[in-house]
Amino acid sequence: MKKNIIIYGVFLFFVLFGITACTKKQEFIEQESQLSFFSMDTSISLTAYGENAEIALKKVKQQIQDLEKLWSVTEEESEIYKINHSNGKEIEVSKETTEILTFALQMAEQTEGALEPSIYPVVSAWGFTTEEKRVPLKEEITNLLTYVGYKRIRLSGNNVQLETGMQLDLGSLGKGYAGDKAVEILKKCGITSALLDIGGNIQIIGRKPDGQDWRLGVRSPFYGDILGIIELSDCAVITSGSYERYFVDKNGIIYGHIINPQTGYPVENDLASVTIIASQGKQCDALSTALFVMGLDKAIEYWRKNEGFEAILVTKEQGIYITEGIKKKFTLKQAYDYLKVYEVNR
Ligand code: AMP
Ligand code: MG
Repeated sequence: MKKNIIIYGVFLFFVLFGITACTKKQEFIEQESQLSFFSMDTSISLTAYGENAEIALKKVKQQIQDLEKLWSVTEEESEIYKINHSNGKEIEVSKETTEILTFALQMAEQTEGALEPSIYPVVSAWGFTTEEKRVPLKEEITNLLTYVGYKRIRLSGNNVQLETGMQLDLGSLGKGYAGDKAVEILKKCGITSALLDIGGNIQIIGRKPDGQDWRLGVRSPFYGDILGIIELSDCAVITSGSYERYFVDKNGIIYGHIINPQTGYPVENDLASVTIIASQGKQCDALSTALFVMGLDKAIEYWRKNEGFEAILVTKEQGIYITEGIKKKFTLKQAYDYLKVYEVNR
């Protein structure tokens, strides 16, 4: 009898201890930390769950600020500024800058120059980075386009060399790359659930702490609200469109910040926005800009030829083209019921 009581006691101890341990673990998982700040010319809001979340988010903030210091086109100390003012001299750059430039050149090649990392002379003439927005003369644009061409960017090891007058702009993919670095840091700190909002670029780690997929709002190009919801885990969701940053001239013409590298003028085609969903932020960021430049037909053709990402293309004519891999995970917001939804297949 006594032996039975001892066994029962030991059993009860383990059951209770087990329950307490589980509850403690659950508490840790649900411990939420948030950090909001302004960097890379945009508002950043980070949320992570778990024991180390607070420290991890501080590390991420530092990393994003460090990357901004490297890549700012206006900050005189940045590596991009130094390259852009090198007058044809070779400049030695950091591992991060080499990495992002290598990727940018690869994507420029793959998108046949729709992504154009040397577009800065034109972007700058339109005043998108200086806040003195203006419509340049046609001759000025024609002249500036002679300084644009990713094939003439020389990257050898850690050294970058541009012809005099050429200038780089990593604005199309820097935030996505920063998001990937953030994810890397958080994962190293043991974080298994996080949501990073880097100026509307969303990157998520794992699922929500309750084990459900994240419900993410896809940005609408029409009224700055949410077009619909996608339910996902472990990926990046990044949108590009002229609605993000633009100006209107005295005749009411709208000029957006994404430039068609062929013409030097803001993109003017059938697309209102492009959302890309993939595992990596840098890929989403580069492709959202590039596919926006391409226009609907070429964007769909590009998706058909290239694996590894999904897309939601919204046209000015109020159609939504959703690639087959993401279609079932997307729910259109009721207010947009009038939009026509098309599934894009391979
Ligand atoms: P995103 O918001 O990611 O689409 O990037 C847009 C930013 O990238 C602009 O504000 C410019 O700084 C830069 N940019 C504009 N046009 C292009 C282009 N065709 N290729 C690469 N970068 C561009
Ligand atoms: Mg982009």
